[in-house]
Amino acid sequence: MRIRAVRERAVPISSAIANAYIDFSRMNVSVVAIETDVVRDGAPVTGYGFNSNGRYAQSGLLRERFIPRLLEAEPAELVDASGENFDPERVWAVLMRNEKPGGHGERSVAVGVLDMAIWDLTAKLAGVPLCRLLADRHNGGRCEETVAVYAAGGYYHPGKDERALAEELEGYLERGYREVKMKIGGAPLEEDLRRIEAALSVVDGDGSRLAVDANGRFDLAEALACGEAIAPYRLRWYEEAGDPLDYHLNAELAAAYEQPLATGENLFSMQDARNLARFGGMRADRDFLQMDPALSYGLTEYLRMVAAVEGLGFGRRRLVPHGGHQFGLSIAAGLGLGGNESYPDVFRPFGGFADGCEVRDGRVALPDVPGVGFEAKSDLIDVMRQV
Ligand code: MG
Repeated sequence: MRIRAVRERAVPISSAIANAYIDFSRMNVSVVAIETDVVRDGAPVTGYGFNSNGRYAQSGLLRERFIPRLLEAEPAELVDASGENFDPERVWAVLMRNEKPGGHGERSVAVGVLDMAIWDLTAKLAGVPLCRLLADRHNGGRCEETVAVYAAGGYYHPGKDERALAEELEGYLERGYREVKMKIGGAPLEEDLRRIEAALSVVDGDGSRLAVDANGRFDLAEALACGEAIAPYRLRWYEEAGDPLDYHLNAELAAAYEQPLATGENLFSMQDARNLARFGGMRADRDFLQMDPALSYGLTEYLRMVAAVEGLGFGRRRLVPHGGHQFGLSIAAGLGLGGNESYPDVFRPFGGFADGCEVRDGRVALPDVPGVGFEAKSDLIDVMRQV
């Protein structure tokens, strides 16, 4: 078995929204297709990958370094002992040849795109959904039929007032979600507190059903001030208060804020995630780790992250990946994680889950198709097949 072709294309996922740090009107992602010489049902078995929202397309890195490395490798270097399927760990080692450790930058995004396609292929060649493959290899065979998802929204938008925010969140509940998340940090604290109270009115005043996300906006004094102001609401979690790499800030905040914290979506390596767990003050009994496997060197590295944080006392339910994509959902189901993010209206077609898999009572099912499940999401597979 060998790789016949690897193709890449940058595709827009522009959305007219903003969080406390960036606006998404010029966002794009890389999509790759890895085609093998294995033919099933008259067509070559092809794996697909893309990078998650929040980081841009990686066309340069992919075309100049990582795709050539993959194509130049001996086929025997990429496969498992049977020779009939890929070994994602060995493929990863080929991709990372001649790369120094540390300073991960955005190469983790480029490698993550290819790694996703390799795992999609590995599950397709094995003839099983990715979640089943992961459950059998890494979770004692336990694959969850549904995964808890929460609706991430509540972005800033010019002219959007508290009433419009509440209507947006109300719409998510009508579509089957139980928990919602909104942005903070892009407006003065008093205004954000009014927004939070409007959002709370939508979830019957139950703070455990509302999370807030500052997208790394605050310095320590601001993070503490916000924490003190929102503590009485007893929210689901307070996300990314300060810079993702400022473990001191996070630890100081954790010492002052008793309710759950969440962070990790902008940590792109096992070492960074382990440092957060070691030095960031994160509490294994209540806080959430949100690393996104599509941005951080792929599932191959994510498995190392899971092992590292488990070794520091964090159970798998403490992990809730960022990104709202099918890859994260498959991983959550197969590894038994605490849930997965979901973006009901934005980042289409890369966000969202399979056709016909509606959210019910805050949980969503996965399609029974080989691979990640892209073939069961018509708007996404249409884009992938054009690459
Ligand atoms: Mg976030």
